[in-house]
Amino acid sequence: MGTKSEAPWHTPVVESLRAGPGTRVSELDTNGTPGFEGDKALAERLLVERGAALSDLQGKLFANGRIGDPRSVLLILQGMDTAGKGGMVRHVIGHVDPQGVDHTAFGVPTAEEKRHHFLWRIVKALPRGGQLGVFDRSHYEDVLVARVRSLVPENVWRRRYDEINQFESEITATGTTLVKVAMFVSLDEQKKRLSERLERRDKYWKYDPSDVSERALWPQYQEAYQDMLDKTNTENAPWYVIPCDRKWYSRIAVTELLIDVFERLDLDWPDPTFDIEVEKRRLAKA
Ligand code: ATP
Repeated sequence: MGTKSEAPWHTPVVESLRAGPGTRVSELDTNGTPGFEGDKALAERLLVERGAALSDLQGKLFANGRIGDPRSVLLILQGMDTAGKGGMVRHVIGHVDPQGVDHTAFGVPTAEEKRHHFLWRIVKALPRGGQLGVFDRSHYEDVLVARVRSLVPENVWRRRYDEINQFESEITATGTTLVKVAMFVSLDEQKKRLSERLERRDKYWKYDPSDVSERALWPQYQEAYQDMLDKTNTENAPWYVIPCDRKWYSRIAVTELLIDVFERLDLDWPDPTFDIEVEKRRLAKA
């Protein structure tokens, strides 16, 4: 889509979803479809077509990585339970060649991880050159759940915003393009999705009784998400705010966002490191 809008988009997602000083988490229309003029059927058709475009771009990144290009892309998915992080990985990242994807899900830190600085496990999971890294949750948990659940003292989580900005500015300077996606569902939509998990045998495994206790802390989480957006929305590593009540919208929106980011890398297929005509002649005789 690039920076100019094309039907069915009236505004490019990089503009309509970009967090700004006026972004208010408590006032978000999580059921909205910013910038998009189509319906669910169109979005689902587009996802196939644009997924193929994303795959082509990621193929170029991977091919260049093989010849030493240090650049990588890192998609950070951050959102409350049921926001659809797993579905985003399956339906968006699922379009690209898995050998070029480096996926990490961050759960409660292990005993070993707890002994280290909070960025220790993050550094270990950073994508190498040529890779599309995907973080399902991330270092932002350390200013979200860690803050809301008082897992560390306030002075500790407060200084993490600066530490994160410093860290992200270092990794972007060494060739990683960050795509930070904050995914929001409404409290009602979350209830609907949690109820489904109690109705279907294929979804029981996803149900975690502690998710219900987290709902009581919704306002505290909203405040923590607001501060995260306000304090870590930098020029090099901006946040994009995705309404997620309609999964078909959030998936096509993140696909477009990734395509935009990849296009800015201005990737091409690498030149051959051999003489094509010579090799054709050799192969004909072989
Ligand atoms: P999800 O809920 O993301 O779909 P899941 O429930 O299968 O996946 P888990 O392995 O249970 O994944 O990990 C998610 C849990 O780990 C969340 O409750 C999250 O808040 C918690 N978590 C992640 N990072 C941290 C952290 N740094 N400190 C404390 N808790 C964390």
